Amino acid sequence: VQGAEQHEFSAEVGRLLDLVVHALYSEREIFLRELVANAADASDKRRFEALTDASKALPPNASIRIHPDKDARLLTISDDGAGMNREELAKNLGTIARSGTRAFGEKLSEAKPEDRPSLIGQFGVGFYAAFMVADRVDVISRQPGSDEAWKWSSDGKGAYTLSPASREAPGTDIILHIKSDADEFLDAWRLRSIVRKWADHISWPITLREGEEEKPANEGTALWRKPKSEITAEQYTEFYRHVSHQFDEPYATLHWRAEGTTEFTALLFIPSARPFDFMEQSRESKVHLHVRRMFITDDAELLPVWLRFVQGVVDTEDLPLNVSREMLQSTPVLARIRKAVTKRVMTEIKNRANDAENADGFATFWENFGPIVKEGIWEDSEHRQELAALARFRSTHSDDPTTLDDYISRMKPEQENIYFLTGDNAETLAASPQLEGFRARGIEVLLLSDPVDGFWPERLSSYKDKTLKSISQSHGDLEKFEAPQPEGDAANLDALVPALKEALGENVKDVRGTVRLVGSAVVLTSEGGPDAMMQRLMRRSGQ
Ligand code: ADP
Ligand code: MG
Repeated sequence: VQGAEQHEFSAEVGRLLDLVVHALYSEREIFLRELVANAADASDKRRFEALTDASKALPPNASIRIHPDKDARLLTISDDGAGMNREELAKNLGTIARSGTRAFGEKLSEAKPEDRPSLIGQFGVGFYAAFMVADRVDVISRQPGSDEAWKWSSDGKGAYTLSPASREAPGTDIILHIKSDADEFLDAWRLRSIVRKWADHISWPITLREGEEEKPANEGTALWRKPKSEITAEQYTEFYRHVSHQFDEPYATLHWRAEGTTEFTALLFIPSARPFDFMEQSRESKVHLHVRRMFITDDAELLPVWLRFVQGVVDTEDLPLNVSREMLQSTPVLARIRKAVTKRVMTEIKNRANDAENADGFATFWENFGPIVKEGIWEDSEHRQELAALARFRSTHSDDPTTLDDYISRMKPEQENIYFLTGDNAETLAASPQLEGFRARGIEVLLLSDPVDGFWPERLSSYKDKTLKSISQSHGDLEKFEAPQPEGDAANLDALVPALKEALGENVKDVRGTVRLVGSAVVLTSEGGPDAMMQRLMRRSGQ
């Protein structure tokens, strides 16, 4: 092609294409879901940009158009969205933004075949799914506010070209040169059934060209605006997968309309699985804010950070459509919505924590997101006690996680403190000599091994009038309890302690005999100083 420049894919993209095309062959139809989702995202993006820049306004009949051409063996997906300029074509379609192929490859080989297609969306590599059905993909794109259009073209085998092109109006065409064994994807009936399955909830009109006619292919209604009774479980799940880029079944689906001072509709989901890169993701809630069905932003922080695993949308009529970023930060409407939504999610989690019949579900939820929820005990004074009440902990009592209330019910009559020990992992903790004195006296100790466990106990300080005490800092009231007689001669300590002090010198603050130990000879403690786990965290962060 004249004026075309040749570019190599990044090595990652090359490997990825190979993986996608070969590992997902049996689920090829998902390419359409991915391309339609991208078209919808680009349309949302343009609508948002147009709020502050009228020159980017969408045409009144903006849509996503699917056009199969059997004779030319082309399938084109067109949108009126934000488009891509030359640099963005190269960056977005020639490199991998979100995560590495290695992680993707590992997940893909571990996943059950039926779970594999879901990994594509989750890893943000949806565009490349086009190469499952096409032996060449052309992308022609023009941005609103520019007359320039560019064409990206590739056979998915290591390189792509970029060349100047033309496009009548802003937007993007994805043109697939359909493979000889993928005829079905030129068939309007087949395409329609795929759209119905994957994209019904997309709030942009999707049309399918049949002969000379553009026929509607989706309902185009915002799912959350429908009455609950008209929504099937499958539709909820599909919508959840669409907003979250996750592909499990939701653990909880919360759909309600709030009326009163602030009116809004919310459709929120608690995932049943933890996303593979959850800990690397940003700490802000990604719940989508809509105003009168229109997507506005996913960074309005509609939920506190300790509920950032919750996915979904909140749609309100109480904000203007052209709401600005500054306004989002200061409006009392959002503050009220935040409060109401947080309360509702909190109630749901509490109900599930107390639902003994479905304890397994909550146990899994806690495995997945407990470490995040516990951040709330630290950060959120309003919910601190409630969160502490539903938290689950490992302890020396049994292999099953316990609540603080259950711990208290097992406390000795003379016991005043809730004892805990923090460390990097549960196994080392369970074997710690620090526990000996407590074990020997039958006093339970909580074993805390999540990073946030170094922080919240100090903030919580006490629960139901029982003080939380780290046993690496003090042995609390251990003397009060009957202990088994230690073997050997206690008097020997009189000679040993000064000798040890002398030998260790400046390295330790003090050496003392202790009631903590039964079988072990020595244990390190940090009485009066920060908790041992906290010290490690401080060292790690260079403090
Ligand atoms: P993801 O959608 O998860 O970011 P994809 O591989 O599906 O990953 O798409 C990569 C990127 O390419 C998108 O983030 C977007 O920036 C860009 N893109 C894809 N399709 C379009 C489109 N139709 N219009 C504008 N940009 C697009
Ligand atoms: Mg995508």
